[in-house]
Amino acid sequence: MQDQHAPRFGQSQAYVHALTRAGAAPLLVPNLTDKTLLRTLYELLDGLLLAGGEDVDPAYYGEPRHEKCGPVSPERDKAELALTRWAMDDGKPLLAICRGIQVLNVALGGSLYQDIQAQARGAEKHDWHPGYPRNRLSHMAIVTPQTRLAHILGSSNSPRSLCIPVNSLHHQAIKDVAPGLTVAARAPDKIIEAVEAEAHPFAIGVQWHPEELADNDVQAQRIFDALVEAVRDRLRNGE
Ligand code: MN
Repeated sequence: MQDQHAPRFGQSQAYVHALTRAGAAPLLVPNLTDKTLLRTLYELLDGLLLAGGEDVDPAYYGEPRHEKCGPVSPERDKAELALTRWAMDDGKPLLAICRGIQVLNVALGGSLYQDIQAQARGAEKHDWHPGYPRNRLSHMAIVTPQTRLAHILGSSNSPRSLCIPVNSLHHQAIKDVAPGLTVAARAPDKIIEAVEAEAHPFAIGVQWHPEELADNDVQAQRIFDALVEAVRDRLRNGE
């Protein structure tokens, strides 16, 4: 019988399903804290997906811990911040989801609201978790025109903002946007829901969980398809 209490690394199957539908062969990367070993794994990857999870340690953006900040994972922070900086330096395609967008922002020097309700004045409820279906469409995301995300979601030729309904399973969000990132979507209450790096071939972060929608939502699946297309372009160019 399986020992339910043995520490383990794992990841939601929804990410794997969304990536395989896009034609990717996902590798799950354990939280290795030895940089040399982690780099060995990183070199095997053609692209990187940063998944949802625990809060990032606020020490990484120079703030004392707020009482509403959740549990942190020192090993995961260390590993994912390194992977993110490498992918940003190397131009390796990167999709960052939920915790991932927060890791991306912190890795590049930005900061976070440690708890939206406690710290972001006027914000609506974004933490539809736990106790709600993970694919619950909870608010709109207003996509910034002319961004890569707008192009992916199919509004490249429209000067008007594209609005899409999204799920929302987060209690933290980006506060100060890191240098090099631009806001690609906001909720109606102005909370940042997506960012992207203009100077990088493909580095996009979304605060919602498209992997939970992608099995019956073409627009959500397109985000994963776009990651894999960026990987293919990079491999074709011999990088
Ligand atoms: Mn939200």
